[in-house]
Parts: sequence; C-alpha cells; structure tokens
Amino acid sequence: MRPPSVDALARSIEGTELPQPLLVDAAREAIAAGDPTSAAERAHAIERALLRPVINGTGVLLHTNLGRAPLAVPASPARYSNLELDLVTGKRGSRHGHAASLLARAAGAEAALVVNNGAAAVLLVLAALATGRDVAVSRGELVEIGGGFRVPEVLAQSGARLVEVGTTNRTRAADYDDANRTGALALILKVHQSNYRIVGFTETAEVGSLTAIGPPVVVDLGSGLLDAATPWLAGGPPDWLAGEPAARQTLAAGAAIVTFSGDKLLGGPQAGVIAGRADLVAACARHPLARALRPGALVLDALQSTALAYLRRDGAAIPFWRMATIQTDELRRRAEALWAQAGPDVGARVVECESVPGAGSTPGMVIPSAGIAIDGDHTQVLRAFDPPLIARVRDACTVVDLRTVESGDDPLVAKAVATLTASA
Ligand SMILES: *Cc1c(COP(=O)(O)O)cnc(C)c1O
Repeated sequence: MRPPSVDALARSIEGTELPQPLLVDAAREAIAAGDPTSAAERAHAIERALLRPVINGTGVLLHTNLGRAPLAVPASPARYSNLELDLVTGKRGSRHGHAASLLARAAGAEAALVVNNGAAAVLLVLAALATGRDVAVSRGELVEIGGGFRVPEVLAQSGARLVEVGTTNRTRAADYDDANRTGALALILKVHQSNYRIVGFTETAEVGSLTAIGPPVVVDLGSGLLDAATPWLAGGPPDWLAGEPAARQTLAAGAAIVTFSGDKLLGGPQAGVIAGRADLVAACARHPLARALRPGALVLDALQSTALAYLRRDGAAIPFWRMATIQTDELRRRAEALWAQAGPDVGARVVECESVPGAGSTPGMVIPSAGIAIDGDHTQVLRAFDPPLIARVRDACTVVDLRTVESGDDPLVAKAVATLTASA
C-alpha cells in the first residue's frame, strides 16, 4: 500500500489547534517512521511541548523547571507604553525610570538598573567596573549556582582578573586587605553561597568589615530578599528565612552594589537587579553590554507591579509571598476537602509535607505544609493531565503539596487525582 500524502495526512489530524506547518511536520515524521497512524500522536507531542501553564504540586516554591516565582500575567489588549518617553516633557525618557527606581526605593539604594537575569547583573557589574583589573573573591565563594553559572567563568568573561583570597572554609577581612596591598583591586566581590552551606570550622568576612579596605564591595546576593525585616508580611520574617542576606541590610552595612535575581525571593519576573551607589550604577548603565542585557516592557511592567506591592507593604499581592506564608492549617483544610472530592476511590490520604523555597535560596530550610498522597508513582499520568499537574514521589507515594497550588486550582487537582482511579 502506498503511504498517504503528507498533506492529506496532515489535514486528517484532528483535535489540535496546531498551525498547518506543524501538522505537516508531524505527518512527515510519521510517514518517515513508516507509521502514518502515529501522526496524531506526534502532533499532540508537538502541542504538549509548547509553553503552557502547569499546576505546581511539588511544594518547591521557586522551581527552576517551572519558571521559578509564580507570575500573574494580566490579559491586556495591544498597547504602547511610555517605556522611554517622559510624559511631562515629551522628550525621550529612560527605561530605567520605572521598575528600577521603585526597586531602589524599596531596597534603600541610591539607584538601580534592571537587566535580564542575575547572571547578567553580575557580568555587567564586573565588565563595567573591573575589566582588565583585579577582583578579590574568597575561595569559599567561587561557587557554581547551577545552570552553568560559575563565578570564576563569569569573571573571566567580564574581562576582570580573579584574585583568590582566603581558604575554602575560612576567609578573614585581613585576607582581602593583603590582596589589596598594592592598591590594585578594582572591586571586592562577595557571592552568596546560595545552594549549599559550609559548616564546622568556618569563618567569613562580614560586608561591614570590608568597606574600610578601599575598593567598592559588590555583593551578589542571588536570592533577592529585599529587606530582612519583611515589612510586607504582617507576621514579620518567617523562621525559614533566618540568615538569608537581604539587599537593604547589605547596602546599609556598606556594600557599594548588590545584585540579585528578579524571580527568586523577590517574587517577580525573570530579571536581574543592580542596586547601590548612583555613580557605579550609572557606569553600568553606560557600558555597551547594558544594551545587550536590557529587558523589554513586559518584564519591566511585571517588575514594576512587584516593586509597587513591596512599597505598599502588600505581600499578599506577590504570589510567591502569599504562597510561602499560607498557614499550614488552611492547607490541611484544603487537602481534606480535596480528599473528600477525589480521594476515597483512589486511596488518597491527607499528609503532612515539607515545602521548600527553592532556587538555591535558604538551603536546608523547609516550610511545613499539607497535601495529599497516593500510593505508587503516578507523576507521568498527572503530567499528561490538562493542565499538567507536576507532583513529586516520596517513599513510593505520589505527593501533591498544596502550598504551591493556587486555591482556585484545587478543583482541577481533584479532577486530576480522580482520573487515577481509571489508571490505578
Ligand atoms: C541564582 C544566582 C545567580 C544567577 O541568577 P539568575 O537570575 O539565575 O541568572 C547568581 N548568583 C547567585 C548567588 C545566585 O544565587
């Protein structure tokens, strides 16, 4: 039998919204594989690979694979914005005037600049302030953050020269002082260890003890906690935040510049923030790389909303903080309601969970939570649900942690779990 024509097969695929060229791809692949009947399945695979909303049942609040901080994207009609227009004078304005200046205000910084991500922020600071010059970094802070961000490599890319100081476990202010003996240091760089802890016989130099040495102290905070006092949370700082360095306090201690991500503990869109001394921030903004690393209006709009929520001290308006601080009792009540809807048939049960902030923030810290568990590994079936439900396997059970699930999505979770009866 002759194989069907690609076009005829593509036209015959039903139940997908894919544009014609992608249906043709699916048909062509199916024919090339000698299995024309697989065309629809291949089309669905293409469709499922598209970017789409998922329900995060993992309990990891900042899940790298799920886009880190949850983000509310308002549906809006096509529109222009005053991205680079000064509405008072009618002259060209600056795209750094909106989100960046609000973040500076919220962090207690003289000025701020927004770039694409945290890695870009570090790269730009080093390129603008230290190309061809020496930068001192503690041997205990020459870290790899994940996803290929390695401090020595970023330093090399920026054109700055790495001067290692101290040892892996102990670095003192005197070590930085020695490195600056000839006055050659352009910067002292401190990097938050983020995703691991060195414990035992350790010592690190506080920012405050480094400012007197001379060169500007730059601190890559990574996680982007804006203020350790968390004035946007009615209950004050939660226990799991203990020890996490914050932008406001690090600047107050004398750091000239701090850098951090927009989508970690800040709870905004993917972005990188450079905040601190106005002259240094301006030097970063003037550097040719700034143009290559600048974000667009979508990101700046979302980041502006986040910054305004901080200035209003309205943590509930920031999805990450709302989810991170929901009372465990409330999650348990939701889990019980969900169990009643979906559970009895599939042998689900309400369980205690441990959520984590994630994204390398607050390593080792957990947030008590609640969810439901079902015996066996059903994660693949739940991923195939529409919308996909991402769950974890713990002790041979599938666990859905409700801390990272919007309460409005509970009925969808119940429905997804109920489908497991059929597949169990
Ligand atoms: C996460 C992190 C980065 C990288 O930030 P991205 O936004 O992922 O580019 C850099 N430095 C530290 C300390 C981090 O924790």
